[in-house]
Amino acid sequence: MARGGSQHWSSGESDGRPEEQTTEDTGDKMVKETQYYDILGVKPSASPEEIKKAYRKLALKYHPDKNPDEGEKFKLISQAYEVLSDPKKREIYDQGGEQAIKEGGSGSPSFSSPMDIFDMFFGGGGRMARERRGKNVVHQLSVTLEDLYNGVTKKLALQKNVICEKCEGVGGKKGSVEKCPVCKGRGMQIHIQQIGPGMVQQIQTMCIECKGQGERINPKDRCESCNGAKVIREKKIIEVHVEKGMKDGQKILFHGEGDQEPELEPGDVIIVLDQKDHSVFQRRGHDLIMKMKIQLSEALCGFKKTIKTLDDRVLVITSKSGEVIKHGDLKCVRNEGMPIYKSPLEKGILIIQFLVIFPEKHWLPQDKLSQLEALLPPRQKVRITEDMDQVELKEFNPNEQNWRQHREAYEEDDDGPRAGVQCQTA
Ligand SMILES: [Zn+2]
Ligand SMILES: [Zn+2]
Repeated sequence: MARGGSQHWSSGESDGRPEEQTTEDTGDKMVKETQYYDILGVKPSASPEEIKKAYRKLALKYHPDKNPDEGEKFKLISQAYEVLSDPKKREIYDQGGEQAIKEGGSGSPSFSSPMDIFDMFFGGGGRMARERRGKNVVHQLSVTLEDLYNGVTKKLALQKNVICEKCEGVGGKKGSVEKCPVCKGRGMQIHIQQIGPGMVQQIQTMCIECKGQGERINPKDRCESCNGAKVIREKKIIEVHVEKGMKDGQKILFHGEGDQEPELEPGDVIIVLDQKDHSVFQRRGHDLIMKMKIQLSEALCGFKKTIKTLDDRVLVITSKSGEVIKHGDLKCVRNEGMPIYKSPLEKGILIIQFLVIFPEKHWLPQDKLSQLEALLPPRQKVRITEDMDQVELKEFNPNEQNWRQHREAYEEDDDGPRAGVQCQTA
């Protein structure tokens, strides 16, 4: 991956090499409102993957199963995701805000139900499947990049409903189920209310005795094990095999291991992998990316460096003498990226971005500078004439201008970061 020229000063122009942006490349994007982005906790410039990931984490956290009091929040998350995950809707929102979404296309804003969005995302099959089958249990499993590289088996304890064995899901003795005497099997009770002279109103409510089922079990015949509920809560340990090369957000399905309900097919257990950030490597597809700091002397005169891999081997990389590594240069090592899922002997590449550490001011005594200069490529001669303006070259702090406007009274301060913080609170 040799490269020449003054790459760092030519902005944006790609000269035919594969994409070389680092992941920090998220320029600000102008949008009318940021509310939906804020709900998901992402920047307006977020990629579709970042939006998916944000939804995944929040939806699992605020799902009514786990957080029954956060129904409103769950709904907002799902609405924000519904808009931002659709490129067309996202564009409408970016340009015109929520108002434009509400007015867009078919008139009224028709958001899907949060549960449908959730099921579509996690593979639950939508409302129809929900009514014919027991509930899916969706669980997030936290894994490290090492786990995804090497593969690992994790045990996970789940709570789920299983059919009561004692009564085989009847809820009581055989034949103890009777038509509800209160509602006569309708599941509803009708109350008549007088609302004025000669005027009555019929109000239907769910039968309290049978909870709308239309049948009940006489309290004395109820199964002692499940107390008539037909199912009992059981703790179950499942073994999750995280295979080499699996990735963040990947789902592992345990068919039929979800909640059981009488007369319904059991739901599934869906495990969603959630990769923790790694201190050295970032993953992009099959590739791993890392940054490596090198000294200026190493950049100019060559080096040997070691890298500890995710399976605890140590790689030695060498820059040949005579080679020059520039700040930001990218190099790669073949077959040291992530293993490819289902074909783990193949691996992606390891991309190393070099960050050259320049020495601090006055690192070299003045009298030695000329010796150094004699070794370096010659400087460019500049001819200075009298009609040119000599100006002072100062440190640049991007926040400073702003800071000046708000804080005229403050003394000039070259400590960039502090001034920067002050100006943000203004
Ligand atoms: Zn029972
Ligand atoms: Zn009833």
